[in-house]
Amino acid sequence: MYDVIIVGAGPAGITAGIYAKRANLNTIIFEKETIGGQISSSPLVENFPGFHSISGANIANNLYEQAESLGIPIEIEEVLNIIPGKPNKVVTDCGEYETKTVIIATGSKYRLLGLPNEIDLIGKGIHFCTSCDGAFFKDKDIAIIGGGNTAVTNAIYMANIASKVYLINIGDRLTCEKTLEDKVKKLDNVDIILNTGVKEILGSEELEGIILTNDQKLNISGMFISIGMSAQTDMIKDTIELNEQKYVVSDDCSTNKDGIFVAGDCRTKDVRQLTTAVADGTIAAISAMKYIENNK
Ligand SMILES: Cc1cc2nc3c(=O)[nH]c(=O)nc-3n(C[C@H](O)[C@H](O)[C@H](O)COP(=O)(O)OP(=O)(O)OC[C@H]3O[C@@H](n4cnc5c(N)ncnc54)[C@H](O)[C@@H]3O)c2cc1C
Repeated sequence: MYDVIIVGAGPAGITAGIYAKRANLNTIIFEKETIGGQISSSPLVENFPGFHSISGANIANNLYEQAESLGIPIEIEEVLNIIPGKPNKVVTDCGEYETKTVIIATGSKYRLLGLPNEIDLIGKGIHFCTSCDGAFFKDKDIAIIGGGNTAVTNAIYMANIASKVYLINIGDRLTCEKTLEDKVKKLDNVDIILNTGVKEILGSEELEGIILTNDQKLNISGMFISIGMSAQTDMIKDTIELNEQKYVVSDDCSTNKDGIFVAGDCRTKDVRQLTTAVADGTIAAISAMKYIENNK
């Protein structure tokens, strides 16, 4: 039986693994896709303390090497279910495992527009996080797609950096809070385009522009898609408490089930960043250690 099974080898999961393994707990990490998680697709990260400027691929590689050097097994298996109990059971596409504790660190995914080129140009003009990548578009023309709180907050933030911001929303009005709406409408360099979506993404090596559903062509060098995120928690929807957006409900990395903890982007929180993910990984692992100690 394992002491700790960690689901997801992103920054949160690997951090949890480092703490659990160094506390001499019998630990394994299951990862379904990419060791290092979503940051692997970022060309440049400039807000991770200790690294002035580093590619996401290098962060992912460093995380992997650190886990490997500590002897933390990372198995490429997709977790299909977590069955709470004493012991907890983790079901993957390869087998079923018993464990005293589980740390869910499955992250979240940005919602996409579903257009050709879109995935290929992520990190090459198509971005999601303005506080991560907004600075790359100083004095350039950019578009924000969406009309909710995140999109409008991103437009206000980018109006201070970019020369021109197009805020493009498929609906006939912005759906953000009124105060945000009032603020964005006062900004001279923000053009709000309603009742309009993106029809085509231009560029093969990097983003060169977009064509809107009203056939208007925008020569932009950056596009931030701000139409929401979803947590990767489908497999636990019947066993662990999730909120309406499918995030695991948790203020402190515990869940509604004893011995099952959560870390990183897949839990309810306001800020989803590398720094908050690794902080959660630490808290979840230390909570798992205490749980094991108290339930001997
Ligand atoms: C393009 C891009 C650029 C970014 N830039 C920055 C930046 O500059 N600075 C910053 O701070 N943050 C940035 N972020 C955000 C940052 O990457 C995330 O906040 C962070 O990766 C969250 O870590 P996590 O471990 O919680 O989740 P993730 O990194 O999403 O890792 C979760 C892992 O769990 C795996 N998984 C999911 N479901 C299962 C399952 N059922 N079984 C097994 N494995 C599973 C996934 O495959 C994934 O590898 C960026 C994100 C993107 C997409």
